[in-house]
Amino acid sequence: MLQPMKPQGPPGDLTLFLQALNFSAQKHRDQRRKDSAASPYINHPIEVAFLLWTAGGVHDEAAILAAILHDTIEDTDTTPEEIRALFGDEVLGLVLEMSDDKSLPKQERKLKQIVRSPRLSPHAKQIKLADKICNVHDIAFAPPDGWPLTRRIDYLRWAQNVIDGLRGANPKLEKRFDETLALARQKLASENEGKP
Ligand code: ZN
Repeated sequence: MLQPMKPQGPPGDLTLFLQALNFSAQKHRDQRRKDSAASPYINHPIEVAFLLWTAGGVHDEAAILAAILHDTIEDTDTTPEEIRALFGDEVLGLVLEMSDDKSLPKQERKLKQIVRSPRLSPHAKQIKLADKICNVHDIAFAPPDGWPLTRRIDYLRWAQNVIDGLRGANPKLEKRFDETLALARQKLASENEGKP
């Protein structure tokens, strides 16, 4: 019996991917990272998606789209309805899993990430891994202006707690996380000893 065909674009159709890039770039257009170079914010979600695809071998379309969009709801005026209308329920679900509730105090949000990480969906765990790899790297090598060493050390410990809750989600990304964390700790230790 003939199976009904799922509508598909041409092979290698990049329409949704480019739409996500464009959407995220528009939404983050006025934001900068907190490093001293004030890098454009959009660099971060692009890096997360790139890491997921290359280091993680995650070639799932919804996961890549969600990686590009992962901070839009938390950090911009983007509504869940906008994401659903353009990218569908699966992508929206992943973006929501990656979004902290900004109405909660910061310490509570951070604790929630630790509690929630074991219960994330498989793709959300992978995006979380790529996100934390990028953030741990930046905390060591391109830190937010004005963060004292103790705050950066605390951040690394917290990120490790979040990631320890989701191990088994992607061994390649976990290895990359562990390597990045070790490098970051070395960097902070050398700063603590007064070396550049
Ligand atoms: Zn992020």
